[in-house]
Amino acid sequence: MTATSLKKEEEIMYSVIVPMYNEEEVIALCYERLCEVMKNVDAPYELIFVNDGSQDRTKSIVETLCTADHHLRIINFSRNFGHQPAITAGMEAARGEAIVVIDADLQDPPELILEMIAKWKQGYDVVYAKRRERKGESFFKKATAALFYRTLHFMTDISIPLDTGDFRLLDRKVCAALTLCKERNRFVRGLVSWVGFKQTAVEYERHERHAGQTKYSLKKMIRLSLDAITSFSNKPLILAIYLGFLLASTGFLALFYLMYLKLFTTQVIAGWTSIMSLNIIFFGVTLFMLGVIGQYIARIFDEVRERPLYIIESQRERGRYLDTQPDALVAKNEDNT
Ligand code: UDP
Ligand code: MG
Repeated sequence: MTATSLKKEEEIMYSVIVPMYNEEEVIALCYERLCEVMKNVDAPYELIFVNDGSQDRTKSIVETLCTADHHLRIINFSRNFGHQPAITAGMEAARGEAIVVIDADLQDPPELILEMIAKWKQGYDVVYAKRRERKGESFFKKATAALFYRTLHFMTDISIPLDTGDFRLLDRKVCAALTLCKERNRFVRGLVSWVGFKQTAVEYERHERHAGQTKYSLKKMIRLSLDAITSFSNKPLILAIYLGFLLASTGFLALFYLMYLKLFTTQVIAGWTSIMSLNIIFFGVTLFMLGVIGQYIARIFDEVRERPLYIIESQRERGRYLDTQPDALVAKNEDNT
């Protein structure tokens, strides 16, 4: 059965996208909790589990679930591409009128989906979940998250709501707008703010991870923060101008002072230490700014290469494998719109 004929048979109203990377400990429970919640919705739904190259038993667990439940669709990536590409793949495949993105680890309570749907029915196009409290996360995680959201707020020109993650409901038209944004270094929640539409929040308490470790290593967190800042702000580049101006003007003032001492007084200034420290400061700042510029260039390079954002290894729905050719996938998605 192709994706198109399925759509004709059953008009899907809600799609729930779950990105998963090595979530063998939680995925079965996550599925159960989602089913419990989705039983209460009034229209046909689908669950799209995006397996982002897990190396554990995640794939076999969800594939077994898929054979027994026609609501469940699975997209398997050929390797770990990351959380943001996984969400994007889910959005591109989704057939629903309202699309929810939720983490697999049950930190985002699935029950909130019903509240989100209620808001959507009131006419909102984006309903994002705002964390009132974060339980059971390390001080480091909370501190870095707080710093990240505030830096981002200061750095970027568009307003990205504070303390929100990717747990949100999007109307079909918002998803369509997002898939038009072809950038590879994606920061999806930033793009959601950027595309506009009528947005509102529902508040929730963020629980601890049900089981397992965070899949966001420090490296991935830094990468996401850099993606977020560079894709929505040129302020780091402008920093070079301010810093350069500040250092150069201080340098000139110091030079005038030293010339005055040399020409008009007998005072001798011991040179080595001050010159060395100034040199180190200037080189440090120069290298730092080269690094900042390098970040932008690397991202431009990434964009012009135009590699796909992710590669699908296999796709399953109604227990069966689907065609996985990227072109065929694109064609199917277009058919669905
Ligand atoms: N995730 C993913 N690919 C990755 C890292 C994470 O699909 O490379 C998924 C992960 O399985 C989870 C969600 O993204 O469903 C959020 O990850 P996690 O809970 O580890 O992040 P945290 O809540 O610690 O920020
Ligand atoms: Mg988590």
